Amino acid sequence: MNNSPAFSICVYCGSRNGISPIYTQVAQEVGHWIGSHQGQLVYGGGENGLMGLVAKSTMEAGGRVVGIIPTALQTKEKPRIACDELHVVDTMHERKQMMAERADVFIALPGGIGTFEEFFEIWTWRQLGYHDKPIGLLNTEGYYDGLLAFAKSSVEQGFLSDAQMSLIKTASQASELLRTLVQDAGFSPQTVAAGL
Ligand code: AMP
Repeated sequence: MNNSPAFSICVYCGSRNGISPIYTQVAQEVGHWIGSHQGQLVYGGGENGLMGLVAKSTMEAGGRVVGIIPTALQTKEKPRIACDELHVVDTMHERKQMMAERADVFIALPGGIGTFEEFFEIWTWRQLGYHDKPIGLLNTEGYYDGLLAFAKSSVEQGFLSDAQMSLIKTASQASELLRTLVQDAGFSPQTVAAGL
């Protein structure tokens, strides 16, 4: 475990595994990338689904893990992973606020409504100027094609602007997206190039 992480990445992702093994593979790849680049993972603190896999893989690769979980979700999401820091907070709002504060960049992997909500919230916070940190959407095997098509139609219908769309980066390959986001956040290419 690295006590002075090079950067901090907040990962939003499913509390389930999804059907295809590609989702569990990509969660492990993301954790491995963070750990092997001396990074820190900030996540929801649980052991279920892709969330747990990202955390375990980060640790196995030598990264630091910060878990943040609301009291009410402790039974459901089981914070049994040996995080370097585990914060049990009173509300979901506190969890999301703390995750946002502790991270340099945000990335959403495949997930369900919790992931969607977290991704849209951090995107809206960026367009409101609450933060200026890079945000990525990992479009593994086209999982988010439908969402991106809907966003494009929202632009065409005049409810979303190109400027708002430019606040998020999308890619299908995890390492490519992670590298772009971390470099956009101002971390050195040398640091980011090390490891994988
Ligand atoms: P999901 O993508 O639905 O599997 O959820 C992934 C994570 O998002 C879980 O840790 C949820 O607790 C969290 N989450 C954050 N905000 C919400 C919300 N408003 N509704 C449901 N889950 C949420």
